[in-house]
Amino acid sequence: MKAVAVFPEKHEVRQIDHPAPMITTPTQVKLRMLEIGVCGTDKEISAFQYGTPPRGSEYLVIGHESLGEAIEIGAAVTRVKMGDLVVPMVRRPCPHDTCVACRSGCQDFCFTGDFKERGINGEHGFMTEFVVDDEKYMNPIPRELRDVAVLVEPLTIAEKALSQVWHVQQRLPWSCPVVPGREQPYCHRAVVLGAGPVGLLGAMTLVASGFQTYVYSRELPPNPKSSLVESFGAAYVSSQSASIEKLARQAGNIDLVYEATGASSLSFEMMKFLGTNGIFIFTGVPGRKAPVEVDTDLIMRNLVLKNQVVFGTVNAGRDAFEVAIRDIGIFKSRWPDSLRSLITGRVLMESYRELLLGQAPGIKNVITLRN
Ligand code: BGC
Repeated sequence: MKAVAVFPEKHEVRQIDHPAPMITTPTQVKLRMLEIGVCGTDKEISAFQYGTPPRGSEYLVIGHESLGEAIEIGAAVTRVKMGDLVVPMVRRPCPHDTCVACRSGCQDFCFTGDFKERGINGEHGFMTEFVVDDEKYMNPIPRELRDVAVLVEPLTIAEKALSQVWHVQQRLPWSCPVVPGREQPYCHRAVVLGAGPVGLLGAMTLVASGFQTYVYSRELPPNPKSSLVESFGAAYVSSQSASIEKLARQAGNIDLVYEATGASSLSFEMMKFLGTNGIFIFTGVPGRKAPVEVDTDLIMRNLVLKNQVVFGTVNAGRDAFEVAIRDIGIFKSRWPDSLRSLITGRVLMESYRELLLGQAPGIKNVITLRN
């Protein structure tokens, strides 16, 4: 079957003929792949800066954001039916008995670092025609979400982040006052750094969760991203027209920052303006650049005197996938055009080069195997 593979030693990225997988245990499911999203991680792997092929293989089949259709079901499978649309999870547990996270199905919190990630780290990915995996890594998705389902995996990043926010903020009275019969005013303010797919999906999740949300990004408005942001009820602020300080003055007490740029200097600048009892979430993985100057005294002072929390979050577990599937449905009914317009390009597998190696324009570009 055809697949797109990265050869790190040879510094090659190309379409290959890869052996088709077969069901080998009764709990496995075979998927025919329908769509594969391309993200920054895929581009880094294709630039040989990240990613590891499976042991013994000279190449890694890439792709971890995906949608497939179940075409063969093992005898003991209970969660997936023939013909179901399925979004597979990315991470697979480490083998160590002592890893309580992996042993309890929470491999997104793996302690040992010996986990694998399909299409990223030690296991082939989904940019291919067929995939076999255990049903426990598969999430069925309603058919009416077919056109946007490939956004579920990137949305899980925001969902995992927000579920942690609710846990952490239980440390204080944080719920918003409810006045029956009256439209609820915003009571929490969030700033999203970056208007890529992770930032935009994060912003949608925050708006849907009742945050007054500001998206801070480079380009001056009006532009397609600023219109998109405004279409689902967030405010767009360009870094070319407002400094972070000005944004903070406009926003008031910033209760939450959702970082989705991978830019550390911008993020630590933002951290200086995090509000009282605020929570700062990092989702980006910066490349190694020269050291930057950070006002550590001010940041530490604020952390203590304003009860702040900073955390990083990677990958996502089953709960986050389930909530993401529910929320994609909510987003689709509330903002159908906005959600669809996140997917700016659909191309055939043969055009993988422009998505992985080029500067493909748009927001989320997708490889489509079947219409
Ligand atoms: C994926 C995550 C993965 C992370 C680090 C991201 O692009 O969405 O599932 O854990 O890369 O490899």
